[in-house]
Amino acid sequence: MKTSSKEVQDSVKKLFEDGRISHFIGYEAGSDSLRVTPCFLKSGQTVSRLVWNPLCANNLAKYLLDLRKVEGKVGILVKGCDSRSVVELLKENQIERDRVFIVGVPCSGIVDGEKLLAVLGISPGDVVAVEDGGDAFLVTTREGKRRVRKEQVLRGECLVCRYPTPVIYDVLLGEAIPSLPWVRDDYSLVRELEELSAEEKARYWNRELSQCIRCYACRNVCPVCNCPECIFDKKAPRWLSKANDISENLVYHLIRAFHVAGKCVDCGECERACPMGIPLRRLNKKVEKDLLELFGYTAGIDVEQQPPLTKYQVGDLDEFL
Ligand code: SF4
Ligand code: SF4
Ligand code: SF4
Repeated sequence: MKTSSKEVQDSVKKLFEDGRISHFIGYEAGSDSLRVTPCFLKSGQTVSRLVWNPLCANNLAKYLLDLRKVEGKVGILVKGCDSRSVVELLKENQIERDRVFIVGVPCSGIVDGEKLLAVLGISPGDVVAVEDGGDAFLVTTREGKRRVRKEQVLRGECLVCRYPTPVIYDVLLGEAIPSLPWVRDDYSLVRELEELSAEEKARYWNRELSQCIRCYACRNVCPVCNCPECIFDKKAPRWLSKANDISENLVYHLIRAFHVAGKCVDCGECERACPMGIPLRRLNKKVEKDLLELFGYTAGIDVEQQPPLTKYQVGDLDEFL
């Protein structure tokens, strides 16, 4: 994470001055030192609010769906995973490429705040700042500076990230990062579950999904969950009741998993937003793995490549019809 906040601020200021953007979506300091929050700018006067650091977890691409509400070109800061969801939005014609100015930042991992506090044995109020220190995070606490190995405290998606450098951008701030040294097996979490019997899998998912309160935060935060009218909100026909039981919860999660199949870029936002701590990435990673093995397909890489479940070829098997 060698790009600094100052570099982001200077670059965005110039974009405003040159009249290349009318708005910018980035990050600013949050309510405590372990949080950043999305930041929306309308002028270069306020770029000093912008920050870029190992806490910038939010995938800001979801906000591009509001492009139609503003005039002009909108600038946005994207990490590798976020850029892949921009690719998916372009594929689905949810945004127009010439309305967006993409500022890419190579990313060497985002901190999982809860893991960090557990490893250091401190509370949120003890953290003053978190910086990137190469293979470790440098954490300034009230007691002094501590160094924590990244692998101990990275977010789950960052431990398996194959695209730390944005795949699409108009300007890249900093040097591209070809790969992250700790990434080995992208699907170890999925393999563990695949080895269970059908009954054990059912027990596992029933246990996890029975905790779901159907707040829909996972859907709302997901950049590729972007239907103008979601079937879960429809009253007629009503696809899902309001009842909060395991059968309705299973239907919700299975439908959503298939709706994001071939579009999910493993940004981890759904899991991060879930107030019940449900391991949603495990479900989406299973679908991702199957699409890779069956179709050689990876989402969010190429604007011209259609997801396998949305295209039909004359030679496709059709015994199921
Ligand atoms: S998944 Fe990759 S690009 Fe996204 S935050 Fe983690 S390391 Fe950065
Ligand atoms: S965010 Fe969590 S609790 Fe809310 S609907 Fe999604 S899985 Fe359920
Ligand atoms: S399903 Fe979750 S991990 Fe996948 S794109 Fe949506 S928010 Fe990101």
